[in-house]
Amino acid sequence: MFYLAVAATGLVLFGFFIFNFSKNQMIQIRGDELQALAALKKRDLINVSEAWRDRLRLIASRTRFRKLLSQHLVTPEVSNVKGMTKIMNDAVRSVSSVRQLSLFSPSGSRILSVGEQISGTETCNINEVMQRRSVLISRIWMGAGSKVYAKLCGPVELNGKVLGVLLGIIDAHELTSIAKSYIGLGKTGETTIAERNENGDARFLTPLRYAKNEGLRIIVPKESTQVPISLALQKKQIYLFGLENIDYRGVPVLSATAYIPELDWGVVTKINRDDALFPLTVLVQKLVVFGLAIMLVILTIGSIVSRTFATPIEKLRSAALRISDGDFGHRVEISGVAEIGKLAEAFNIMLSSLEERTLQLEESEAQQDQLITMLMKSNSELDDFAHIAAHDLKEPLRAIHNHVSFLLEDYEDKLDEDGQKKLNRLKSLSKRMEKLISDLLHFSLLNKQGLAVKDTDLNTVLSDLMDTLYDSLEEKNVEIFIPNPLPVINCDAVRIGELFRNLITNSIKYNENYEKLIEIGCTDKNEKVFYLKDNGIGIEPEHQADIFKIFKRLHNEKKYGVGTGAGLTFVKKIVETHGGRIWVESDGKNGTTFFFTLEAPGEQVAMAV
Ligand code: ADP
Repeated sequence: MFYLAVAATGLVLFGFFIFNFSKNQMIQIRGDELQALAALKKRDLINVSEAWRDRLRLIASRTRFRKLLSQHLVTPEVSNVKGMTKIMNDAVRSVSSVRQLSLFSPSGSRILSVGEQISGTETCNINEVMQRRSVLISRIWMGAGSKVYAKLCGPVELNGKVLGVLLGIIDAHELTSIAKSYIGLGKTGETTIAERNENGDARFLTPLRYAKNEGLRIIVPKESTQVPISLALQKKQIYLFGLENIDYRGVPVLSATAYIPELDWGVVTKINRDDALFPLTVLVQKLVVFGLAIMLVILTIGSIVSRTFATPIEKLRSAALRISDGDFGHRVEISGVAEIGKLAEAFNIMLSSLEERTLQLEESEAQQDQLITMLMKSNSELDDFAHIAAHDLKEPLRAIHNHVSFLLEDYEDKLDEDGQKKLNRLKSLSKRMEKLISDLLHFSLLNKQGLAVKDTDLNTVLSDLMDTLYDSLEEKNVEIFIPNPLPVINCDAVRIGELFRNLITNSIKYNENYEKLIEIGCTDKNEKVFYLKDNGIGIEPEHQADIFKIFKRLHNEKKYGVGTGAGLTFVKKIVETHGGRIWVESDGKNGTTFFFTLEAPGEQVAMAV
């Protein structure tokens, strides 16, 4: 629907643009045509009026006629009038369109008249003709039978002197022909010709296409500047296309105007605006049909795309949502193009295997939970057992140790050297056994007891520890170096003190150097990693995994002193109960570095008392 709206808007905008562009182009072309036509009509009118004048000039220039008039003016005789009448009758017959001729003396009296009896032939403006000495078109009017006539007045001259005034009535059918020729003016076009009447208003000189102009009485007042003929008479040569431009009927028109200075006439070529824009109407209709056709195509394509792609994809989407809600039993049914069908098939296969795997996962999770529960139970039983066993073994062992001590004290002199040696060995073994059991008990306690977690300043933990170990550190020439202050962390301070004590005593114990150096620090990148580095004997890489196993020692007592091999096991347990991990780095020669973290990244120590 959205795409349809976008397409429709685009089409409307495109249509609007085409419409406007075409409209402007059409007005421009039509206007140019009308203007060219108005210029042609103007030229025709000038030619016609010149032809009329020439006819009168031709008649007035007859030598015999002029001589007879000259004589008549001196001595008026009937024979002169007869002679002139004959010449003028010949002229009316031979010169085309001339219907009547009259001759006036310079004083204005009519000497003679020949030709048809036509009303409106009264007289000429003798003085004006005598002054201007040229043929004037003094009136255009409509006579009987709707015929249009033109009255021309011209001088009759001899030897540079005006002898009289010749008045000619000419059938002005050429004028009406020019107006009536609608070629190039479409179905509604028209040419109108008007002169200025005594008030300055436009008076049409020809019958009009859309109004009876009997007697050529139709007038357009000079104030009506929206009517093109008024503008033509204001000497404007333009083409007009505005909503306000109307013709004498009040109908909107597209028009061009021309002005003929020689005649003081205006010419208008015009065409009804509806007619002028008819091709545009056709264009609009075509655009609408075209637009509708495109919309139909878009709709069809849209519905095909929707049926073929969008609907199946929507089904896949909603299936995916149901799956994410745990509904693995749902299957997608799609009919459409082969590829989408195949996709749905693959989707369903994926669903089946997903369902199967989820079931397996659930089963194995259940088994895992069961195993963890069993493991925790057995671990706790084992801890209990170790604790009870260690606790219960300690008493008899101490009794054995005491009895061996008493035996040695009471019967030493009665025993031979071998017997004494064996009893002493038994005594030390029972002591060692007691130590081992104590360690075992301690280890089980580390498992059973929770952590007393609080914010702990590790600098304080270490300085307390170093105070405790002061004598030993002094005696063994040990230097502990802490390059940067250690952080405050959330941990069990007692356990962490125990951790450092184990590592420090090992670093001293397994070190043959006179100056024993220990460096303790913390690197703080993604997580805090603590380290303790010594310059001792090092640990061969192949033994590094074993040293954290309980009671695992790499040396015997004679070499580096007594020990049970449980210290690093405690360290590892403390690190792990804090959620951290421990590892060692050494090349087996140049000292050892222990690294450990006390918190898995992003996790808090969970066990708290
Ligand atoms: P113990 O010290 O009682 O033997 P530990 O668990 O503390 O037990 O150490 C296990 C073994 O790891 C030691 O016997 C020793 O061989 C080795 N070891 C521990 N710390 C160091 C060290 N800093 N340098 C070299 N060897 C070490």
